[in-house]
Amino acid sequence: VKNELRQIKDKESKTLDGHAIELVANIGLPMDAEKAVEYGAEGVGLFRTEFLYMDRSSQPDEEEQFEAYKKVLIDMCGRPVIIRTLDVGGDKEIPYFKLEKEENPFLGYRAIRICLEDRELFKTQLRAVLRASIYGKALIMFPMISGVDEVVAAKAVLEEAKEELRTKGQDFDDQIKVGIMVEIPSAAIAADLFTGEIDFFSIGTNDLTQYALAVDRGNTKITHIYNSFHPALLRLYKNVINASKKDGKFTGMCGELAGNPLASLLLLGMGFDELSMSPGSILKVKKIITSVSMEQAQKVAEHAMGLHSAAEIEAYLKDELKGLG
Ligand code: PEP
Ligand code: MG
Repeated sequence: VKNELRQIKDKESKTLDGHAIELVANIGLPMDAEKAVEYGAEGVGLFRTEFLYMDRSSQPDEEEQFEAYKKVLIDMCGRPVIIRTLDVGGDKEIPYFKLEKEENPFLGYRAIRICLEDRELFKTQLRAVLRASIYGKALIMFPMISGVDEVVAAKAVLEEAKEELRTKGQDFDDQIKVGIMVEIPSAAIAADLFTGEIDFFSIGTNDLTQYALAVDRGNTKITHIYNSFHPALLRLYKNVINASKKDGKFTGMCGELAGNPLASLLLLGMGFDELSMSPGSILKVKKIITSVSMEQAQKVAEHAMGLHSAAEIEAYLKDELKGLG
């Protein structure tokens, strides 16, 4: 099987009838970019930058971050790289941040909420990303967005960062694209309200599943309820795609579901432009994408949308996948 997968590495990720869907990688460390290319990634759909801040005693300065982003952009040779701004808090603890213990860390002070309060922390990262942006195709993505006001505020900080670089005569991509993670149900439900402010959406199914179903993503006692195939989640994904397409925006998915081969027909048929996953999943998903037509996938997605439980949906998708051989 390994050899067979390697053979499709250089194949375009297109359906039999020529519909393209970008298959890109989730990465954490700068050195993961090379591996992503090796596995056939057409870009990076999620660079989890918090790893740069973890396992150390103080935050990385602008220069260190600049070097890290620059390396990834250079290694990706002009392919798009979506750099997600700092997403700490919740399950991602960083001791030197000295955050107070909270009763509900997943519902608490985390990610963009921290960045919008700690302007210097946020702006340092944004300046580093902007400076690196001339070495490839960088995009900026804000995590844990619950409402449009947060996007407006985050973009204002981005503008400040740009202005500071201009004053210093430092070069950056002034047209850098900005998007949001859709991982809080409010953003998925009100997706139509965001399109005037952003260039792209990327659905984070890991948190979106946790918040939509009220199931802690790390609690092993309730993993049987945690399921990204839940009909309510399918409706949230579809709502985001509809809003995004209506205003000509780009829609991706970067949670675990995006790399699950069982979901490939469904997500393709729903109309995603991009799926971002761990590099090791790319060729498996590409094998499925390249062996169906868009029409087939759309029929599968439509049928799945009419089913009543995650179990039914998964059983149906398993059958359809088997049918592909
Ligand atoms: C997600 O929530 O789906 C996601 C991709 O982000 P993370 O897993 O880093 O929270
Ligand atoms: Mg998340």
